[in-house]
Amino acid sequence: MNTNAIRFLSDEHLLRDVETAAAHERGATADLIALLGEIDTRRLYLQQGYSSMFVYCTRGLCLSEHAAYGRIEAARAATKFPIVLDRLADGSVTLTTICLLANHLTTGNCQALLDAASHKSRREVENQVAAIRPSADAPPLIRKLPESKASTPVQAPNTILSKPVDASAFTLGEDLPAPMESPNRPIIRPLAPERYKVQFTVGPDTHRKLREVQDLMRHTIPNGDIAQIFDRAITVLLQHVERRKIAGVPRPRSTSDAPPTGRHIPAATKREVWARDRGQCAFIGVQGRCDERGFLEFHHVVPFAAGGETSVRNLELRCRAHNAYEARLHFDPMAVAPRIATDESSTGADDACQLG
Ligand SMILES: [Zn+2]
Repeated sequence: MNTNAIRFLSDEHLLRDVETAAAHERGATADLIALLGEIDTRRLYLQQGYSSMFVYCTRGLCLSEHAAYGRIEAARAATKFPIVLDRLADGSVTLTTICLLANHLTTGNCQALLDAASHKSRREVENQVAAIRPSADAPPLIRKLPESKASTPVQAPNTILSKPVDASAFTLGEDLPAPMESPNRPIIRPLAPERYKVQFTVGPDTHRKLREVQDLMRHTIPNGDIAQIFDRAITVLLQHVERRKIAGVPRPRSTSDAPPTGRHIPAATKREVWARDRGQCAFIGVQGRCDERGFLEFHHVVPFAAGGETSVRNLELRCRAHNAYEARLHFDPMAVAPRIATDESSTGADDACQLG
């Protein structure tokens, strides 16, 4: 592929090509998984001089530990349940989904579990797994950690191996090294339906404050249960943030009927816009509405600078990225103007100049 020519593709052509490339990648991944499954079954890595599939994948095929782990897990699942390959190829499930489900698939439930996990996020599939095999509640725990070393290498999320790879550690039939959470990484993980494990590390100030709160609340929470204190604390914080960000109050004061002036958005207007847009970015793109719920801002549909009023009708929620995008669309349209193919056969620099 001529990477230089990519810069001069029209938007339409670029989007079409990337969809084709993504489909090819999914197909190639499914092929790789199928081939790895057969190599694993035949133990071909041994004659090649590797002691395990894992070593073969990392050293022989130059895959990262993360990539090797996921592909071997998927290959073993696909060997037992070939339908996995079809789902990977059509894009309805990802390797991450397969790794999460692998230990729970049976001949009887395979299709149903894959259907339920179709096009689901990692978080949704984790909830699905927690419902299949609920875990007991995690016990409350406050523990002093050993002094951290200055430069602990950061590993890829969800792929952290429990120990360094030992070349002799993995042979046919043996389990892959179990992924584990990094001790430095916060965890929010479903254990069972409606039950979650939350884990994080705090500094001395937070620890001192927690102990103080436990002591002060002994009358209402005699055992100092951290989960109850956390719930109380986060409820107060949520109310505070809602009041500050979206003027959310239990009993809003009545507002005057005078039309709002200036950029200031009255509290009642904020509440109404937030409720109408359901706390979600309301930008609607070609593929549908943006589902971002973080970094939300109030956006003037007709820009304030262009005479747009600060009213419920003219305000919508936008994530920061879409707010900035629409601002550029209005004030600097050439910067975000679609690149339109003028001639399929010419993709040279001259075209780029014409397109700006
Ligand atoms: Zn958005």
